[in-house]
Amino acid sequence: MKTLFEKIIDKELPAAIVYEDEHCIAFKDINPGAPTHVLLVPRKPIPKLTDASVEDQALLGHLMVTAGKLAKQLGVGEAFRVAINNGAGAGQSVFHLHLHILGGRPLKWPPG
Ligand code: AMP
Repeated sequence: MKTLFEKIIDKELPAAIVYEDEHCIAFKDINPGAPTHVLLVPRKPIPKLTDASVEDQALLGHLMVTAGKLAKQLGVGEAFRVAINNGAGAGQSVFHLHLHILGGRPLKWPPG
């Protein structure tokens, strides 16, 4: 059974895609929490961060570097947040690892 994000990756569901490469895809969050709110998703369907293993190290590093590049491209490179919700108790609702990239408004710390 494909996750929602696998369906977006496979173009079976529409999304506002802002970036794609061989390892990951980024698209606008359908329910944005900030003026810029993009989800960066590995093509590999790792359910959550705690399911990643040492063999995923290069992929996770690629996601972090790509998040920084994307933030710059999206015009929020000076002030943005990268967030990963791990588990339902932390607000994870789609069990396919993804990085939230949020910016374009003042971001409070800690988040709720
Ligand atoms: P999380 O709660 O961390 O699992 O994040 C899942 C995110 O996916 C939420 O911010 C949702 O608004 C977003 N989302 C759910 N469905 C879609 C969709 N079809 N296209 C884009 N974003 C979505």
